Amino acid sequence: MEEPLKKLLSGQVQREKEGSKYLKDYQIECEECDEVSYVASYKEPKYCPICNSKIEAEEVEDVDI
Ligand SMILES: [Zn+2]
Repeated sequence: MEEPLKKLLSGQVQREKEGSKYLKDYQIECEECDEVSYVASYKEPKYCPICNSKIEAEEVEDVDI
């Protein structure tokens, strides 16, 4: 009798941590320096990359530059 292959395969499947592996694109509209910038980051950016002011970044799906 052969060993059940299904069991072996399902045991190998491990869920990867979501959100930690892929870069996401964020759009940052800064009110301080009046600049719009795009940042690719694993985490949501909290500060403007230009003037370092606190900002609220928006996640964007596709970025056309
Ligand atoms: Zn700024």
